[in-house]
Formats: sequence, C-alpha cells, structure tokens
Amino acid sequence: MAQKLIGLIGGMSWESSAEYYRIINELVRDRLGGLHSAKCLMWSFDFAEIEALQHAGRWDDATIEMIKAAQSLERGGADFLLICTNTMHRMADEVQVAINIPLIHIADPTAERIKTAGLKKVGLLGTAFTMEQDFYKGRLINQHGLEVLVPNDDDRKTVHRIIYDELVQGEVKETSRQMYRDVIARLVGQGAEAVILGCTEIMLLVRPEDSAVPIYDTTAIHAEAAVERVIAA
Ligand code: GLU
Repeated sequence: MAQKLIGLIGGMSWESSAEYYRIINELVRDRLGGLHSAKCLMWSFDFAEIEALQHAGRWDDATIEMIKAAQSLERGGADFLLICTNTMHRMADEVQVAINIPLIHIADPTAERIKTAGLKKVGLLGTAFTMEQDFYKGRLINQHGLEVLVPNDDDRKTVHRIIYDELVQGEVKETSRQMYRDVIARLVGQGAEAVILGCTEIMLLVRPEDSAVPIYDTTAIHAEAAVERVIAA
C-alpha cells in the first residue's frame, strides 16, 4: 500500500512541529509495524517573521505567506495538508481555495472527539487571536454546535504571554503550569465540561492531571487525524 504524502505547514513554532513529526511517525509505526514511518513534507517558517506579522495585525501578508507555503507543498506532491498551529487557521479558508488538495482543519477532528464523548460546553485556551477572534470559536459553535467559554481578560493575557514568552521558545516552567491549572479551574467553575488546548504548544506544559475535566490536545488530535487519512488510503 502506497502511503499518502502528508504536507505540514510548520515552524509556528518548531517546538510544536517537532511534536507533530514525532506523533505522526510513532502512530504510523504502531499502525503499520516494522520499520514503517510517515511520508511527509514540512514547510517550516521562521517564526519570528510570522509572529511579527501577527502582532502587527498584518493578516493579509501572513495569508500570502501561508498560501505560498501550501502551494509549494502541493507542488511537492503532498496529498493533503495540515497547518500545524491553531492561530494560523485564521486564514484556513483562503488557503483551501488556493490549493487543489484537502486541508484538515484542526478544529474539526477536535470537535468531533468532544461530540463523540457527549460533551458540549468547552473551555478554549490558545493565543489571544484564537480565544478572541471568531475564526476558531465560530467554527466550534456554528459548524459543531459546541458552547465555548474563554478565560477572563486577565487570564487570556496570561495564557497568551506564556505561549509567546515561554512555550514557543521551548521554556516549560512549573510556575506557568500552575497558572494554567488555575485558569482551567476557573473555566471548570464556569461549567466547562472539557478544555481544548487550542494552541499547539500548550501540550508541552499541561497534562491531563492538571485539569479536573478531560483535555483535548489539538496537536495530538490533528496529528492522529492525519495518520487516519494515511492509513485509510
Ligand atoms: N502554535 C500556536 C497555536 O497553535 C501559536 C503560535 C502561532 O501563533 O502560530 O496557535
């Protein structure tokens, strides 16, 4: 069986792209056995350039860069694509129309799992862009029928700061883990039945035992969705 070729748009940050690469290869090995590993291509950005566009609100320029990356992976032979960050799904629709191969949207397999578990009210952790703008919450609400809670103003600032000042730079601090635990506990106090780790680096910091309700790690779920597609080929 010829494996499908996975296209990964990564480097946002490479700390989480490395996790995608590891998880995808481990799952393919587990599923196919022996010396099997995943066939994949990764476009890896210089995150400093992308982060500068994000914080300057230059989303149109960022979209152009994302489309160029997606088209390069398609030309390289990728059968389907993953954008290895939640935040950069802001331009997922524009990327999808610019290519002829499918893009697996990170929110979709995540929401499917939550619905399968019979849960409805979810807390969402991610960058300020993901927690505050509509592109991600809107998809969870309108396409998947979930109720989405985001942390309060101060907590959103803390969650965002820890992502950019620490996690994307590979720093994992116990003090920050405690802050995330507290944010999660407040979401649970508001009725969250599950928490989405809606930033691909949060899994470096937060573990299931840090939450009283199930956590849904978008990095692992997205990587697993890619492998399902490879194996189903
Ligand atoms: N990887 C993160 C995410 O999933 C944040 C970095 C970025 O802004 O792309 O949103």
